[in-house]
Formats: sequence, C-alpha cells, structure tokens
Amino acid sequence: MSSLGRVLEGALGIFFPAWCPICAKPSDRLDTSPICGACWANMSRLPANVCQICAKPLEVEGISKCGNCYAEKPFYSTIRAYTKFSDVMKEAIHLFKFSGVRRLARPIAELFKEVEIPEADLIVPVPLTKKRLTERGFNQSLLIAKTLSDFTKIPLSYDTLLKVKETPHQTTLKGTQRINSLKNAFASTVSVKGKRIAVVDDVMTTGATLNECARALIKAGAHSVFGIVAARTVLE
Ligand SMILES: [Zn+2]
Ligand SMILES: [Zn+2]
Repeated sequence: MSSLGRVLEGALGIFFPAWCPICAKPSDRLDTSPICGACWANMSRLPANVCQICAKPLEVEGISKCGNCYAEKPFYSTIRAYTKFSDVMKEAIHLFKFSGVRRLARPIAELFKEVEIPEADLIVPVPLTKKRLTERGFNQSLLIAKTLSDFTKIPLSYDTLLKVKETPHQTTLKGTQRINSLKNAFASTVSVKGKRIAVVDDVMTTGATLNECARALIKAGAHSVFGIVAARTVLE
C-alpha cells in the first residue's frame, strides 16, 4: 500500500466505524459507511407491480390501483418509493435518523438517480415541528431533499410547508388514530398557486403524513403534489 493509501486508511478508520453492521465485514465505502459497498449495492427495490398512486405492492396482475386508492383517492397524485422499509435501507435509516449518521442522506437520495421522477416545480421536505427539530438537531427529510434538489435541479424550499401541531410518534398509533392526529398538523405559509410539488420523506408507513402534507399544499393552491420516499412499509 502506498503511503497515501495508509494515511487514507488511517483517516477513514478514525472517522467512521470499521465494520459493516449488516455483514460484519470491513467498511469499504466512505459515503455509505458504516454500511459496506457490497451490502449497499444489494439494496432491494420495490416489486415492479405497485399501486400507481400509493406504491403499495399489488398481488394481482393487470390492475393499477390498490383497494384503498380505489375507495378514496389521496390528495397526492403518486408516490415514488425506492424500496421496502427493511434490510439494508432500514439499517441505513436507523443510523441516519437515530444515530445521527447524517452523511447517509446523500447516498440514500442518490438512489433516486435510477428512478423516473415526475416533473415538479418545487421540492419540499416533510417538516418537523420546532420542538422535534430541536430534539433531533436536524430534519432527515430536508437532508434527503437537498441532495435530490442538487441532482434534479428542481428548486428546494424548506419553509413552504410547516408542521404547526405536535403529533404523537406515528408508530405508536393505529390507522384512524394516525389520520386524526395529523388533522391540521401541516400548513403552507406561502402561495404555491399552480405549482407541481414533490414532497420528500424518509419513510412512508400508511401514507397519512404525506396525504396531510398534500392536502395543505393543494389547499394553498398547488396544482399537484406527489411524494418521494426512500422506503415504504410493506406488510408481509
Ligand atoms: Zn456489509
Ligand atoms: Zn394505492
């Protein structure tokens, strides 16, 4: 190994943990570390046959929408979800969101270079309340949205949509409780008249959060709203 190589290896050992939490082999990719390059490359995708609106995998061939979206059309027009909230992505999001490994925002967002994203005038992250932002120190959706904006060249706005009401952790609530707790939780502070808006989140569980964001933006005059999420919960 060259002396530069040794210096770099030493520096990398200091700045990121040496072992991949998935395969326990040495971490060998800086931007995704501690997740190694092989595990990152193994990230699965959602199946091709998903609901054209909410991205739920469909069990029946030849249909385009799931039963929920047939029964009640959401305020968002479609969701682009990269993968299921499991395996490598689940580990990445846990490291990113709860252990503060913020550098993972970039490789997570860059996965969308492989995804066809509808045309949009504005990228908006799902906001946190001031209280939650202070607790966490950063908005994970904003970090993903920044990178998406960088490579798609769609302008980013972090103050178009605000979260104005504190809500319980969504994971602690059941379906209808989620929807009720989110009522009027988001508000658009500026006119978005005629704009096509991409709302970015890290994980979509039921879609209730994205739907409430879309409702607020449509109410403020948006032409249309769609969602971009790194991972979607899929019940097995
Ligand atoms: Zn690995
Ligand atoms: Zn659906």
